[in-house]
Amino acid sequence: MSKDYYATLGVGRAATQDEIKKAYRKLAVKYHPDKNHGDKQAEERFKEIGEAYEVLKDAQKRAAYDRYGSDFQSGGSGFSGAQGFDGGFDFSSQFSSFSDIFEEMFGSTFSSGGRQTAQHQPGSDIRYDVSISLEDAYRGVKTRLKYTTLVKCEACSGTGSEGSKRPSPCPTCGGRGSVRQNHGFITLERTCQTCGGAGSVLSDPCKKCSGSGRVKGEKNLEIDIPAGIASGSKMRIVGEGEAGFKGGPAGSLYVVVSILSHKIFTRSDADLHCSVPISMVSAALGTRIEVPNLDGAKCVVDVPAGTQSGTQIKVKGRGMPHMNSSRRGDMVVKIAVETPVSLSKKQVEILEQFASERDDKTNSPNSFEFLKKIKDLFS
Ligand SMILES: [Zn+2]
Ligand SMILES: [Zn+2]
Repeated sequence: MSKDYYATLGVGRAATQDEIKKAYRKLAVKYHPDKNHGDKQAEERFKEIGEAYEVLKDAQKRAAYDRYGSDFQSGGSGFSGAQGFDGGFDFSSQFSSFSDIFEEMFGSTFSSGGRQTAQHQPGSDIRYDVSISLEDAYRGVKTRLKYTTLVKCEACSGTGSEGSKRPSPCPTCGGRGSVRQNHGFITLERTCQTCGGAGSVLSDPCKKCSGSGRVKGEKNLEIDIPAGIASGSKMRIVGEGEAGFKGGPAGSLYVVVSILSHKIFTRSDADLHCSVPISMVSAALGTRIEVPNLDGAKCVVDVPAGTQSGTQIKVKGRGMPHMNSSRRGDMVVKIAVETPVSLSKKQVEILEQFASERDDKTNSPNSFEFLKKIKDLFS
């Protein structure tokens, strides 16, 4: 469900950063848990306010939210834009404690020096760009992808723990992941520094991955790019992104497919367009041309006598396949009549003879009509 962060803070969508900050401070003080002991509703509200502010205070996150709604940060089913992988966002560990919010409000004197990672944090998504030929897009193609990323540590099977020892509860926070500190009139709850909010510590961290459960490694996988894919398409491959932290779920791999330009054809959805030059004589007398199709077969096109330059001849069903369907687009052949050049003396004589025997009204009706219009205009 998409949340309305602006409504949560009681500001308009055009609110300035200053207005957002003011609205947040007012509400945060009002619903602060220490003022509303045991009031579950106030606590809920306090969390919502914090979540809304976390996004709206950051110009980049706010822009993504404006575009995609609150689901933009889930990294899951709601993910729809490119922001996830090229924006460099890290939403995985946010809102883990109230201390972040208080650091924001009262300065960062209690800061533990950056965000702490929680246990089972999922891995980041990865983008991989692939360029294929139009022929490959026509037939569909298998492509091998090679990339370096964080992969599961085999030495500890991703747990981060050496041998079979399981993590034990954190001695500092007793497994809560956070500790309480009194600062004058308020009590701050902040992430436990010993365990980084995980609530547990590794008694014997894996030596290979230093307890993170993942190491740098090479991925090598083959994917099927389906026939009919459009240029700019994104294919999501779940679980092939960065490995998760301490056994958390892996991120997704997003393969962005672009199609290289072709020597003969341009593509318009599922239709293939090409321009074929034919001689003036062929255009006048009619001819049969062969256009090579993307599958290597030849496509025979009949050009009727008297075809004009720019005429488009459609060949049904010889275009690109539609994705997930047996239907195909059309091939559209555009005729370009080529006026003869470098004429010999004899050719000139023949054409002059043709001109003397030509009847404009019958042989060149378009020119005839045009001249008539001009005459009318000046008479
Ligand atoms: Zn390991
Ligand atoms: Zn702890």
